[in-house]
Amino acid sequence: MTKTYKLKILAGDGIGPEIVAEARKIIDWLNRKTDLKIGTSEGLIGGCSIDAHGEPLTNETLKECKASDAVLLGAVGGPKWDNKTAYDIRPEAGLLKIRKSLELFANLRPAKVYDALIDSSPLKPEIVRGLDIVIVRELTGGLYFGSPRGIEDLENGEKRGVNTCIYTTSEIERVTKVAFELAKKRGNKVTSCDKANVMECGKLWHHTVDTLHEKEYSDVELNHLHADNCAMQLVRNPHQFDVIVTDNLFGDILSDEAAMLTGSLGMIPSASLGAEGTTYLYEPIHGSAPDIAGKGIANPLATILSLALCLRYSFNRDDLGQKLEDAVSAVLDDGLRTGDIMAKGCKQVGTNEMGNAVIAKLETA
Ligand code: NAD
Repeated sequence: MTKTYKLKILAGDGIGPEIVAEARKIIDWLNRKTDLKIGTSEGLIGGCSIDAHGEPLTNETLKECKASDAVLLGAVGGPKWDNKTAYDIRPEAGLLKIRKSLELFANLRPAKVYDALIDSSPLKPEIVRGLDIVIVRELTGGLYFGSPRGIEDLENGEKRGVNTCIYTTSEIERVTKVAFELAKKRGNKVTSCDKANVMECGKLWHHTVDTLHEKEYSDVELNHLHADNCAMQLVRNPHQFDVIVTDNLFGDILSDEAAMLTGSLGMIPSASLGAEGTTYLYEPIHGSAPDIAGKGIANPLATILSLALCLRYSFNRDDLGQKLEDAVSAVLDDGLRTGDIMAKGCKQVGTNEMGNAVIAKLETA
């Protein structure tokens, strides 16, 4: 019997429900037109969950997520909830709770420059044309989680802020494995970034990556860069990279930098992966865009491309993931644009029309 994959959909706030509705249409199309079967159910996260239940993600919803094969998330947050000062009842606390509870230790952010959108990049076309790289960021360890941490009062009246960077070999190994495995399916090259020159954690990172490479992945090309040099190389010559793997702090910064090489926030998907066989999370990297929510003009493509990553990594369907990515590319080649990526000579469309255009391309592919 064909397996029906379970997908939990958490649309969230602001433009979340609008962009997720377009991904849902594609799920319906996949169910109708392919041998893949996806069963969906909805849940609340973020501000809408605070309104309904007084907390940004209930344990009940989390349990349902854990019982699913994958989670597709829209976006959370908005001015309505900004005055809630308690940290644990802010919409964003729902995001941290789901990432932590599902133990999603590897965050993948592809940065791909579509030919049709080359003028959206802040860099010269000759530097970014054809760019297709992925940053793999460690997501559950390092400086953001280590203890001791806090702000303490000193006897001399000053204050002292403390954060601690901690990594174990197994934490480094598991995220590096994700990077090597990914590289094997792409350009077969991994660049590992750390600050081994000034940090013990960096030294261990470098050594652990080398050891794993020697033992299991010597067929993959590996090089190391200090994180500051990597930040510079990303704008100087981004084509030298295929997969970049790095820790939580450096990954936070480098993945935003890489995303901006493409120039289009509304185009960038992400996948957060954990141990094999567990529930992974897929979401666009942009926020809930309260300034355009409810107007029907949001770009749904980052969410649709997040669904493509879900097809690849959670439903083991590289073929359908590729087909969906090709359909998005074809729609852009036809000159269709939402407002955020609008360019001279193109046709401006709304959220709904953009989703329909992707489906029309899937139909004719
Ligand atoms: P944002 O990403 O929501 O918006 C930044 C700008 O980009 C806005 O002008 C917006 O209109 C535009 N934009 C974003 N996505 C778009 C899309 N798909 N189509 C067209 N235009 C798009 O960032 P922000 O304004 O800093 O944050 C708004 C809210 O989102 C805040 O409450 C913030 O905390 C939250 N946020 C949530 C997430 C998440 O859910 N993962 C991520 C970032 C920010």
